[in-house]
Amino acid sequence: MPSDDPIEIVKLRKEYGGFVAVDDLDLSVKKNSFTGFLGPNGAGKSTTLKILTHLINATSGEAYINGIDVTRDPKAALTGVGTVVETPEFYPYLTPRETLRYVGQIIGMSSEAIDSETERILEKVKMTEWEDKRLGTFSKGMRQRIAIGQALMNNPRIIILDEPTSGLDPRGQAEMREILKNLRNDSKNLTVIMSSHVLHEVSDLCDRIALINHGKMILHDDMSIIGTTDGKKRMIVKVEGTPNEDMISKVLQLNNVVSAERFGNDIDVMIKGDNNVRVKFFNELSALGIGVYGVNEEGTLETTYLKLIKESR
Ligand code: ATP
Repeated sequence: MPSDDPIEIVKLRKEYGGFVAVDDLDLSVKKNSFTGFLGPNGAGKSTTLKILTHLINATSGEAYINGIDVTRDPKAALTGVGTVVETPEFYPYLTPRETLRYVGQIIGMSSEAIDSETERILEKVKMTEWEDKRLGTFSKGMRQRIAIGQALMNNPRIIILDEPTSGLDPRGQAEMREILKNLRNDSKNLTVIMSSHVLHEVSDLCDRIALINHGKMILHDDMSIIGTTDGKKRMIVKVEGTPNEDMISKVLQLNNVVSAERFGNDIDVMIKGDNNVRVKFFNELSALGIGVYGVNEEGTLETTYLKLIKESR
């Protein structure tokens, strides 16, 4: 039985001959979350996303979108879902505007809706300047922006992306990240699952992570657990001036502070709780007149990733 989560994968399995690419995988994507789908080359990410978008069939198991079984009723399941899973092929002689119109027609939008959506999306994917140039002349980064644009037609509430910044140069990657960040900031009512190998991009954009290896889930949680041990996180807080005993004792009295000690010119703080707790902590420091100009956090997505992948070999 599917849950209320917009995307739900249950015991999904894909075998190629005798090789198991996706191994009885369970994954629930929470509503309005931005989930980074991680894993080494060959982990089974693309295979999972292809099954989810009905590009290939699973060997067994189920994939639901909004509670609708993708295999049984792909059309209904994928209505209102924007996808960029395989590098989309566009007609090189069409312009971005014509391409989006064409996509709008295929998905059955009215011509008024197509007009207004086309304007909105060309702006969102920063293609207004190029709207009447032919796609055949575009760089990979520009074509990828059109790919995201077509996925945004008709204001989808769910977006599925397979490595959206793959193969782009640093500027193209930064542009794509900015587009995705704006998307996240502009709509609180949007669920995104996005595979990626770029860990800082995932840290930056996503509030959830799902990490797989050999087709199996090895971590699925809030991003805020990264670098935590038993819900505690260690931070080196860089403060104005030199921390003295008075400052340390004030910090120690704050809620959720487990320990605090001087660390050179900084304060080494262990704090228990999620991101909200940490926001409160910094507000309280500011209320105490303790100016913070920087923070180093122990444990990054990269260290967590490498440790878990090593353990799951
Ligand atoms: P990457 O990060 O490199 O894109 P991935 O996590 O997306 O990797 P998949 O592309 O899903 O991994 O591939 C999972 C495994 O399934 C790999 O070992 C791959 O070689 C294998 N595989 C994928 N497609 C096929 C296919 N059509 N036939 C046989 N094996 C396949």
